Amino acid sequence: MSEKFLANTLQYVERAAKLLDLPSDDLLQLQTPHREVRVELNIRRDDGSIGTFIGFRVQHDDARGPFKGGLRYHPHVDAAEVTALASLMTWKTAVAGVPFGGAKGGVQVDAASLSPGEKQRLTRRFIDGIHDIIGATKDIPAPDVNTNGQVMAWIFDQYTKYHGYEPGVVTGKPVSLGGSEGRAQATGRGCVYATEELLADRGEALAGKTVCIQGFGNVGSWAARDFAAKGARVIGISDITGAYIADEGIDVNAAVAHVTAHQSLEGFPGGEHLPGDTLLTKPCDILVPAALSGVLTKDNAAEVACRYIVEGANGPTDPEADAILAKKGIVVVPDIYANCGGVTVSYFEWSQNMQHFYWDEARVNQELRRVMARGFADLRATANKHRCSLRTAAFVLGLGRVHGATKLRGL
Ligand code: GLU
Repeated sequence: MSEKFLANTLQYVERAAKLLDLPSDDLLQLQTPHREVRVELNIRRDDGSIGTFIGFRVQHDDARGPFKGGLRYHPHVDAAEVTALASLMTWKTAVAGVPFGGAKGGVQVDAASLSPGEKQRLTRRFIDGIHDIIGATKDIPAPDVNTNGQVMAWIFDQYTKYHGYEPGVVTGKPVSLGGSEGRAQATGRGCVYATEELLADRGEALAGKTVCIQGFGNVGSWAARDFAAKGARVIGISDITGAYIADEGIDVNAAVAHVTAHQSLEGFPGGEHLPGDTLLTKPCDILVPAALSGVLTKDNAAEVACRYIVEGANGPTDPEADAILAKKGIVVVPDIYANCGGVTVSYFEWSQNMQHFYWDEARVNQELRRVMARGFADLRATANKHRCSLRTAAFVLGLGRVHGATKLRGL
């Protein structure tokens, strides 16, 4: 499964390289990760036994700035998945125009099986294993699937024990430890800004549009709140416990309160409970996959019944599905642009840490809006120039920028 995700990612990159006429040796240089690290993590479980896990960090490219990307805790994490995600980060930071490269990391673990104490010990052991290769000017981790501000706080604390106070070593920290206002909201909020850019380009408004959101973690739940606040109608949400559908509109704040109280949407009374997959094929204006990779495939793409897809997740659409969706006239706003709000506000956080000068949330949102608007304009111009999809345009843009920086730096 993750081998396929990596092959898919390389396929998207190769398609863009062809349009850019990149020499094959330049392409090989750009595709090859700089460093791949695998560490054994032993922790004391609460029951006294020893738990052994594997942690990964792949540093893909740093031509445009320090390596940058999240850490996820999930059973699917392996070398291929982390490599694919690290590559996507390289192109994403370039599309967003923030001065970072790309990296990703993770631990292969069922996060739900860890107590808070076990999660903390696992995080600290992971930093023991990688502290020498991270740092505010080297490689800066951030939250991803099943990690959050608390995990970033432990990373910051453990790193400090080796290297002293350096808040810019990690982003997505709690605000009280040097995090940025608006960072928790940023990925979901960026998806909504991306949707507004797309709709404006097509002469449409967001108010009144129907939205389905797959995944109700950080990205999905904040996107849902912002969509609802801007007058769109969120008619379906989902998590691992299934889909919850209400054609008159889900009360998004009630759903968030339910998850806060019960850890998942299980038992949420505000919508009809259906199997999770049904959400992806429900008729709506905007579908936001905001969970894991590889959810739109050749097996379900023909059934997808939305007008627009805005990729909150990384790698949710297979190339085979992408072709089917294009044939159906469904416009896809690709992950490396649609969800770049997270890493963009990570950049704002890092830059606030470097200056020890902090912004209010209004400024964060205004700057994020500017990045998303500029990003869409660049994507539109590139798509027009090469007569290609927004996805191919995003890879052309990202690859072109990283290639340019690589050439300038020389061998
Ligand atoms: N994990 C997020 C992503 O996939 C954020 C990465 C970051 O802020 O470095 O884009």
